[in-house]
Formats: sequence, structure tokens, C-alpha cells
Amino acid sequence: MQKIAFNDLGAQYQHLKKEIDAGIADVISGCHFISGPQTEQLEKELCEYTGRRYCVSVANGTDALLMPLMALGIGKGDAVFVPSFTFVATSEVVSLVGATPIFCDVCRETFNLDPVSLREQIQRVIREGCLRPRMVIPVDLFGLPANYSEIEKICKEYHLTILEDAAQGFGGQIDGKKACSFGDVSATSFFPAKPLGCYGDGGAIFTDDEELYKLLVSIRVHGKGSFKYDNVRVGLNSRLDTLQAAILLPKLHAFDTENAARNRAAAMYTELLGDKFDTPTVPQGYLSSWAQYTIKADSPERRDHILAGMKEQGIPTMVYYPKPLHFQQVYADLGYKAGDLPVSEELAQCVFSLPMHGYLTEEIVRTVSSALLRL
Ligand SMILES: *Cc1c(COP(=O)(O)O)cnc(C)c1O
Repeated sequence: MQKIAFNDLGAQYQHLKKEIDAGIADVISGCHFISGPQTEQLEKELCEYTGRRYCVSVANGTDALLMPLMALGIGKGDAVFVPSFTFVATSEVVSLVGATPIFCDVCRETFNLDPVSLREQIQRVIREGCLRPRMVIPVDLFGLPANYSEIEKICKEYHLTILEDAAQGFGGQIDGKKACSFGDVSATSFFPAKPLGCYGDGGAIFTDDEELYKLLVSIRVHGKGSFKYDNVRVGLNSRLDTLQAAILLPKLHAFDTENAARNRAAAMYTELLGDKFDTPTVPQGYLSSWAQYTIKADSPERRDHILAGMKEQGIPTMVYYPKPLHFQQVYADLGYKAGDLPVSEELAQCVFSLPMHGYLTEEIVRTVSSALLRL
């Protein structure tokens, strides 16, 4: 039997080899390695794809989250609300600007920020009176957009800015509206394993706000003013390589086809496994881009048994994420304790993800499912 890949980037390359190789060769012969024409073309096409007015391509997804915080002057004394069940970059950027991450719980069904917990945490911060609530960073976890209609209502009430963490969300939709177009500003990542990945690090920021766009463009190149050697604010060096843009263009052109294939694979997993396992929920009107296909085991012991059994059968699985952020050592001084965010704590002990990518065959989905049903 052929070895099953968790995310088959090799199969994707074989499909797009001609276009990707030609794009790379063009960049090398053009010698425009930073901010070349392909970068500009990519930003234009990403705007068209997401429906946002402005796109700022950057060096990675973490910078894409960090830069809006810098641009909006979020810092010491500010509270930024984030889900606890996510990748650490979501809260790390809050700490990097000197603000305080306030961890919220997630919904058991969707894995995404729970609006009820968000409201509770905002009210707690206001009651305690030490921090100023400024922003919410909802995460489109595993490819499914967060519940923006509810989150937007709450943010309007408390005058909070929304930064969409669409690092895993590119290609998701709610009622036809695309991920990277929710909230005031959005960030995505082109890390190779994300739904739209390049061959290194990369990311992009999206907004409809012209003022914010101009600030982000300045921050991307050392806080430049009218030109590179006019420095008006503290910035970064956070440009997307032209090579990565050239690799992303053909991948963007193939994205909808791959996304449809991921959705077919996910539907098949759910059909084969749904009777026996707690398979993912996609609410009415939502479309996931299936950055991960994640199942909940009945107990931590059962998950251990499943992970070991799958490994024995030669099938790769992953655990995203084994520890909620409010329990991470880096946040020990925030004083969270067991039971504070029960759903995030439970999910970290029970979830596991199955192979998922745009080149999964029906046969592989069946092989993986049968292996799981045997356990
Ligand atoms: C991957 C990821 C990031 C960070 O992206 P990088 O490109 O790796 O810096 C941020 N948030 C979430 C939810 C992610 O999955």
C-alpha cells in the first residue's frame, strides 16, 4: 500500500508543476526578488478573491496579525479577547505589543470563539477596571469562519475592533461572503500547510479602511514615510518574497478546485464516520475550507487508543491543539486555573485530525475511515 500523507504537498506540486516552475524561473530571470511585479499581481488577485479593497502581503501570518495591532496603537493597559483553543500566534501578537490577552472559551460544535464567553469576559474586564477592552481576534479554526454575526453585535455594543485570524480560514465562507473579509481587518498565513500555502513563510492582511491600509504599508517597510529612507514610525521588515508570490499565483488559481475536493473528502469522511464518531459540524450557510478535519474522541483515554491504533496501521494523525493557551507556561502569570474555560480544556484532551488535502482520493478516505472504524 502507498504511504498516506497527512497533507500531500507533493501531489499538489505534481499537478501545478508547469506553472509553478515557470513562475519561479520568471522571478529568477527578472531579478526583482523583493516587491516584484508578482507580489503586486498577487495582492490584486487576493483582493478580487476575498472581496476586500486592500491587501498587504507580508512575511508570515504572525506579522499579519501583529501589524494591525501596531497600526491601531494597541498596547499596555489594553485587553484583547482571543479564544484559548487556537495556535499560540493569535495571543502572542497581543503580548508582543504589551497588551493583555484575555482568553475566552470556544463552542464545542464549531471549535470557534463562543460569543457567550466573549461577552462574559468583556464584562469581567470592565468590572475589574484594570484594562481597557479594545479588540477581539476571532479565529477561523480548521477552515471554518467564526460566528461573525454574533461577534459583530457584541463588538458594536462595546466599541471593540475585530481582527479576523484567517490563518487557517482562507477559502471559508458565510452566506457567500469570503473569509478574510470579516471584521475591520483580517490576517491570513501562507505557511505551507495552510489551505493556501507557499514554499516558505508568507502572509497577508486585508482591510477596506484606506487609512489603516496606508499605515500597514508603512509598517511593512520600517515605518517608511514618503520613501524608504524617511522613517516616521517604528515598523518591521515584513515583505513577502517575490518568489513566494510567484508560487502562490498558480496555487490561488487552483484553489477553488482544491477546496471543492477538500469539501468532497470531508463530506465522505462524515458519511463514513458520522454514526460512530463525533465528526465536525458546519453550521447552515457556512463553508469550511477544511484546513483540518477534526474529530472528538469520547475521552482522553479513547483518543490515546485511537492515535496509537492509527499509527500502527500506518495512518498519520495530528492533535491540534494538545494544550489550551490559558494553560501555556508563557501565560502562567495570568493566573488561569483548571475549569476556567472548560470546553477548550476538554477539546485539547479529545480532538484529533485526519489526513486532509485537495488531492485525497476516495480510496484514501475509505482506507483512513476503515482503519478508524476498526478501533
Ligand atoms: C498558522 C497560524 C498563525 C500564524 O501563521 P504563521 O504564518 O505561521 O506565522 C496564526 N494563527 C493561526 C490560527 C494559525 O493557525
